[in-house]
Amino acid sequence: MTVPFVSFRPLEAELNAPLRAAFDRVLQNSWYIEGQEDAAFERAFADYCGTDFCIGCGNGLDALVLILKAYGIGPGDEVIVPSNTFIATVLAVSYCGASPVLVEPDIATYNIDPTLVEAAVTPRTKAIMAVHLYGQPADMDALRTIADAHGLRLIEDAAQAHGATYHGKRTGGLGDAAGFSFYPGKNLGALGDAGAVTTNDGDLAARIRALGNYGSDRKYHHIYKGQNTRLDELQAAFLAAKLPELDRMNEFRREVAARYRSEIHHPGVILPTVAPGCTHVWHIFPVRCRQRDALERHLTAAGIGVNKHYPTPIHKQGAYPELAGLSLPLAEEISATELSLPMYYGMTPEQVSAVIEAVNRFTGA
Ligand SMILES: *Cc1c(COP(=O)(O)O)cnc(C)c1O
Repeated sequence: MTVPFVSFRPLEAELNAPLRAAFDRVLQNSWYIEGQEDAAFERAFADYCGTDFCIGCGNGLDALVLILKAYGIGPGDEVIVPSNTFIATVLAVSYCGASPVLVEPDIATYNIDPTLVEAAVTPRTKAIMAVHLYGQPADMDALRTIADAHGLRLIEDAAQAHGATYHGKRTGGLGDAAGFSFYPGKNLGALGDAGAVTTNDGDLAARIRALGNYGSDRKYHHIYKGQNTRLDELQAAFLAAKLPELDRMNEFRREVAARYRSEIHHPGVILPTVAPGCTHVWHIFPVRCRQRDALERHLTAAGIGVNKHYPTPIHKQGAYPELAGLSLPLAEEISATELSLPMYYGMTPEQVSAVIEAVNRFTGA
């Protein structure tokens, strides 16, 4: 049996009618940018996240850039980011002209270790960008304490954690502002690129909306040197069709994760954990293994699709020569040992069993 790393087919088959209806509605309206679909999805997603505002934009990277720009963060400023994340988190800081300061993760959760954050704060620090990596919320209470003590903004990169909760509250409403991606592979995915910011701060929301629309607060009136990054009507309509299914899709992922965690028994394979007070939405199911590359070859040969998140740590990427000298052993350790198992809505029980059995059969390098 082959098991792809990810497939959108099961969900698309179930939602074929509502997705087609969404397309027809947009075509019928003949209105494609900044219209009722966008407004309706923004309202629905803000309600879902428990925030007052949601501003759609073109993608997750832009969502993070807009937040930083709206806070006036730029050259000379520092932003604390995790050393273990997708590069977009760090690129957002660089795009604004600010400097990313990388902080190591907690090896149990893979999220930024709050006990290391305080030592990274300098007089130039303006914000902490917490990432809810792999679908598990970062330790936001501990980060809030540090942010408040130093007058820092606390920003969520929630691109991997739509619907995950921290002490009963959903991501998107856990910090001062949050950036989401609706890249197709995310837990809530568009049929193309899309993103959004959520926040309870009305002034910030207004600045972000203007910044993403040529810096314009009303037509042909430009108060900022903005950019063009908007959520189009078609993607908003598709997202609105999928949002009511998000909790059910996340629950499905949790059931797959529960089987992986209870049925994978291999002394060389470290399984992921769920932190107290958190619900995980398993955007990624990350295992770690000393002989990761051999495990990858073994699973690939068995027809199991796998991936690495992420094979090269940010400070070792060609894009960041200025960070190359940093010593970040945990980020390096995770990059060298992490392997992501198949995880998507609609995997069959037989496919889940095939993954479990293939991992349990692994005999080492
Ligand atoms: C996907 C992702 C982003 C960027 O989202 P795009 O929509 O691809 O621009 C940012 N941060 C994290 C953690 C992500 O996984």
